Amino acid sequence: MVSILIIYTGGTIGMVHDPKTGTLIPFNFKQIRQNVPELARLNYRLDVHSFDPILDSSNMTPEIWVELALLIRDKYDEFDGFVILHGSDTMAFTASALSFMLQNLSKPVVLTGSQLPIGEIRTDAKENLITALEIAATKNNGKAMIPEVCIYFDYQLFRGNRAIKYNAEKFEAFRSPNYAVLAEAGVNLSFFGNYILPHPEKKIIVHLDLNPNIGVLKLYPGISKQAVLAITEANVDAIIMETFGSGNTTTAEWFLQCLAQAVAKGKLIIDITQCQRGAVELGMYETSKKLQQMGIISGHDMTFEATCTKLMYVLGLNLDQETSIQLMERSLRGELTS
Ligand code: ASP
Repeated sequence: MVSILIIYTGGTIGMVHDPKTGTLIPFNFKQIRQNVPELARLNYRLDVHSFDPILDSSNMTPEIWVELALLIRDKYDEFDGFVILHGSDTMAFTASALSFMLQNLSKPVVLTGSQLPIGEIRTDAKENLITALEIAATKNNGKAMIPEVCIYFDYQLFRGNRAIKYNAEKFEAFRSPNYAVLAEAGVNLSFFGNYILPHPEKKIIVHLDLNPNIGVLKLYPGISKQAVLAITEANVDAIIMETFGSGNTTTAEWFLQCLAQAVAKGKLIIDITQCQRGAVELGMYETSKKLQQMGIISGHDMTFEATCTKLMYVLGLNLDQETSIQLMERSLRGELTS
């Protein structure tokens, strides 16, 4: 019998109406079988691990990602797959972080949640939960169909480090702007094998050292030197620079100097685009040629969420600057197209 561990971290999904007061209160996932009777028909061995306290995912931290990775490491041999119930707000960050922390993953780790609590009549929680479990249980020639960290939401399965929360209102909360969906749930579950990562040849390695000492510099026409210096001179190890179009910035001398000084101090500066689709192409325009010459890293088509968590992971490896740059520019878990 297929075995799946449900890890409940919190989020909107875990709310039900208190029969006494009528208010929404956290749902005890230990009693999940009574409350979601459909689960009995799945014929899987399900175990539940509930976080204590449960979280609104806006309070997610790298320390909790370490807790999640440790839990998966400890239970890795016991279960065929893992379904993490998580608030949608930072789900894409958690999925991205776990994708880097769990190297050589050969089992599915599917994150899901919902826009309406599981106790609401019109809830999207039951479909999301049941299909996420089905995806986590699906095998192909005796091996897991999806050896990846992914997000299942509103009938679509996304690679975790390619997804972004796109809509705060609609059931279709997530999108993967630069990568195809991995599966779709209609009358049948359709998996798109060409887009799914291959099975690793080596054993899983769980990385637990994350360095979140990162700054963010979002550009806009008219940005002041003072605003730029506040980030480039801050005590951070890396800076994510959100630029225009295919990675362009102003070519004002003072601006380029601020960047050059930060690079000279050993900070990693990675260029990602403010556009939702498309990629950074350093050197395509004169405005980005200078960045390339200065040693600014191309983030290619990575999401902000993937860039941020990948930096935490790469900085946590404590490598020399050149190797860190190489890792940032290369696809490690299918997070970028170069
Ligand atoms: N604020 C909630 C959370 O992220 C929203 C949700 O679950 O959808 O935990």
